[in-house]
Amino acid sequence: MTVSNGRDFLAIPGPTVVPDQVLSAMHRPAIDIYSGPLVATTESCLADLRRLFCTQGDAYIYAANGHGAWEAALTNTLSRGDQILVLESGRFARNWGEMGVLPGLEVVTLEGDWHAAVDCDQLTAKLVKDKAHAIKAILVVQVDTASGVVNDIPKIRAAIDRAGHPALLMVDCIASLGTMPFEMDEWGVDVTLTGSQKGLMMPPGLSFVAVGKRARERHQTANLRTRYWDWTQRDGPAHYMKYCGTPPEHMLFGLRAALDMIFDEGLNNVFERHRLLAASVRSAVSVWGADGLFDFNISNPAERADSVTTVVVNSGFDPALLLDWCEYKAGVKLGIAIGDLEGQGFRIAHMGHVNAPMVLGALGVIEAALISLQWPFRAGGVQAAAEQLGKSVSADSPVS
Ligand SMILES: *Cc1c(COP(=O)(O)O)cnc(C)c1O
Repeated sequence: MTVSNGRDFLAIPGPTVVPDQVLSAMHRPAIDIYSGPLVATTESCLADLRRLFCTQGDAYIYAANGHGAWEAALTNTLSRGDQILVLESGRFARNWGEMGVLPGLEVVTLEGDWHAAVDCDQLTAKLVKDKAHAIKAILVVQVDTASGVVNDIPKIRAAIDRAGHPALLMVDCIASLGTMPFEMDEWGVDVTLTGSQKGLMMPPGLSFVAVGKRARERHQTANLRTRYWDWTQRDGPAHYMKYCGTPPEHMLFGLRAALDMIFDEGLNNVFERHRLLAASVRSAVSVWGADGLFDFNISNPAERADSVTTVVVNSGFDPALLLDWCEYKAGVKLGIAIGDLEGQGFRIAHMGHVNAPMVLGALGVIEAALISLQWPFRAGGVQAAAEQLGKSVSADSPVS
């Protein structure tokens, strides 16, 4: 028996649910790449991406997934033999650093804990020791999609400034842009990147890089530059060179629709929606785990991301059983735990095109799975999630 027929809910942390408006915007014939609506679409998307990143700097669109943006950030600003410092807080900053190995960068890691944000005192201490300023760039994620941590980027900037270190600060916002505040210029970030398929509600396949003034200066002498990723090549007047070849036109029309949805809702409302839905997920998990079945992977509540929640399951219970029940019996696809946490838990994504019925529905399915599996959870998680939302979304507050 299954109760899964109906619309599936993909609750994995990327790709996320693509809204019908975005899908429809892409459903059209191919058009000319030298003139007409495509050129204006590029211009308006670039302008809105800069608004999203909160930067006066330049933005670039790559027909590539997030790994492409990682490579673009490194090769445009660095030279063979340069050191890069990876701030570990899960899996993704490490993987980004690994992209630098083949081009000839030397990767140094500030080892982190999979259960906590980057330790800023350790960062300052590490940088103070680098008297020769061999480290040229510092790589960090705002949200780590594996551990579920959120790093405090202004605090990291302050830690670098305390050491008086000139390295570029590069931030991966793939699992956070469009779900929580990010202010590139205000926070002193030199390079920011994100992908299309998470908070931005698009299919995978596009990624975006924003470049500040200091990064632009380093770009002039960087010797890892290659033609495809190169910012200077993409700055030329020919429209197709902004993509170093045929623009991914259907994706761009989808992106236009997604950005319209975000700015129509209002950025602050988008962030608030994520914050409230994340809080309801955390309420449910707290109750279910109160007797020891579940734990949040991230110990400090203030360091838990508003886009994804990573749950660790007590070792006597196999998370695969829970994941399978949710998927095959009830049509909710949750994320598996990855990296160091493989096989030890699961992830609930709550980013992008999600609302209360989707999130409460997913939580209801998880509680049903726990009942079916007869695991020793504490009942009332869904009730707690509903209370959390009911108490924070007041009936007489304005609709937008
Ligand atoms: C998903 C993700 C990536 C990888 O993006 P791809 O599009 O799969 O290359 C990198 N960093 C973070 C934080 C992510 O969440």
